[in-house]
Order: sequence, then structure tokens, then C-alpha cells
Amino acid sequence: MVRLILFGPPGAGKGTQAEALSKQLQVPHISTGDIFRSAIAAQSELGLKVQSYLDEGKLVPDSVVIDMVQERLAQSDISAGWILDGFPRTVPQAQALDDLLAQIKQDYSLVLNLQVAESFLVQRLLGRQRKDDTEDVIQERLRVYRDDTSPVLEFYNLGTRLVNIDGAADVETVNARIQEAIAGR
Ligand code: AMP
Repeated sequence: MVRLILFGPPGAGKGTQAEALSKQLQVPHISTGDIFRSAIAAQSELGLKVQSYLDEGKLVPDSVVIDMVQERLAQSDISAGWILDGFPRTVPQAQALDDLLAQIKQDYSLVLNLQVAESFLVQRLLGRQRKDDTEDVIQERLRVYRDDTSPVLEFYNLGTRLVNIDGAADVETVNARIQEAIAGR
């Protein structure tokens, strides 16, 4: 049973790796960013609530994200395992995830921290076609990562399940590094 938290700055390759791992390990890929983008496309109540945060590269309020993840983790497919991508992104979210997992009597296997230098991230993000991949919004998302998200690493560093992965390589190489970390856990 594999339950992974993919962590790292915007552009580190979390989404790409999570998608590949989801196929390889046959477990659902839970991307909070993807859920928000679908809600925005569907113009649902959630979508309308979160749109401006995504457009501006700001974090959606913790309570909204935590409720959404709680609902997602209540679905039956997660009994096979899961890959979280883009959550938790703040220390209160990490604490809430611990509480949620305790409630459903689950635990995560590993936190995979994809490490990529900032100059490389900007290049990668500018090469994508997402609406929030403009220069200004990218700078804001990197700032949010530094200020609000990177402290989550200290939260997980207290345990022994945080693994750093060098993410500055092609998709297959990074995937092989992750598979090695999972096999060696
Ligand atoms: P991502 O696809 O993971 O890069 O997320 C895109 C955007 O969705 C972020 O810039 C935030 O506005 C929002 N978002 C995704 N996940 C979270 C989260 N865990 N907490 C707060 N906001 C989030």
C-alpha cells in the first residue's frame, strides 16, 4: 500500500510525476490544483470561490482546501492508496492532514520533496501554457512557496519519512529516482 505526498515548489514536476506514478502504482492521483481548475471550468460554487486566488497565484484559504481534501479522502477508491500532489501547502494543512489520516486510520508512506533550483523553475513554468504561468503570477507563486509552503518541510523533517529527490532532470530520470526511494523505504 503506497500513500505518497509529492512536495516541492511550483514547476518542480509534481503533477507530471504524480500522474506517471498513479499509472505505475495503480493508485489515485489527488491534485488539489486540478480539482480547483475543474471546478473553475465547471463554474461551480467552489470554482467561483477560488478563481481569484488561482488567477493571482495566492493560496486558497486553508479551511476550503482542507474540507475539499477531507471529502476526497472519504471516497472509496483511496483504500488502494493515493498520491497527494499540491497538498499540504501550509503548516496548518499538514497538521490537518495528520488529523484526517488519524481519523480514517491511515498514514502516509513517504513525503517526496522534489528539489529544483529557482532559476530552472521559472524557465520551466514559462514554457507551460497554464493561465497562472505568466511572469508576475509565477513570481508570486514562488514567493508564496518560500514564505508559506517551505516551512511544511520542517514539519515533516521531524519524522523519518521525508526524502529529497533531485528534480532537475528529465521526467524518466526523476521517475526512476522516486521509484528507488519507494523501493528503499
Ligand atoms: P497547482 O496546480 O498545485 O500548482 O495549484 C494551482 C493553484 O491552486 C495554486 O497556485 C493555489 O492558488 C491553488 N492551490 C492548489 N493547492 C492548494 C493548497 N493545498 N492550498 C492552497 N491553495 C492551493
